Amino acid sequence: MCLKEMRRKCDRLVRGLELPVPFDAYTLCEQVGAARGREILVIPVPMAAGTLHGVTLMHENRDVIVYQPHTTPVHQQHIILHELAHLLLGHDPKDLLRTLFPDLSPELVAGHLRTTFKDRVEYEAEYVATRILEKAHRGQDPPPPPEHRLLSRLERTLGRRPR
Ligand SMILES: [Zn+2]
Repeated sequence: MCLKEMRRKCDRLVRGLELPVPFDAYTLCEQVGAARGREILVIPVPMAAGTLHGVTLMHENRDVIVYQPHTTPVHQQHIILHELAHLLLGHDPKDLLRTLFPDLSPELVAGHLRTTFKDRVEYEAEYVATRILEKAHRGQDPPPPPEHRLLSRLERTLGRRPR
């Protein structure tokens, strides 16, 4: 899938999202969880600086978004939305690899494809998070500065690949 198609898919997803007014990421997670019939818990967990900002844990009947609280509120919100985007986009590396390569051992496939796949899903999640914030702040106060650095880095990486 090329960048343009990825963006189109993500734009469609964001367009279909009903955002809470006034906007906040926690309420959006609650709404999405209720709509899916699968609770989304959002929990702050301090993480060492420079390591992870957020992570999503999938449990049997609920998803847990863990985020770094030791950063600005705007950044916290962005982290939560990034993780929520992974859930909305159905990113589960194990599942996708299994679908694509049913005959190969997961270790083998993971070793070969990890970078490409990771860049792709990270790009999608980051793009969706940014678009949600843009949509949430349209017509209101100026939007918070989006985390475009990661987005453009991933775009460069993905754009370089032959299609
Ligand atoms: Zn991510």
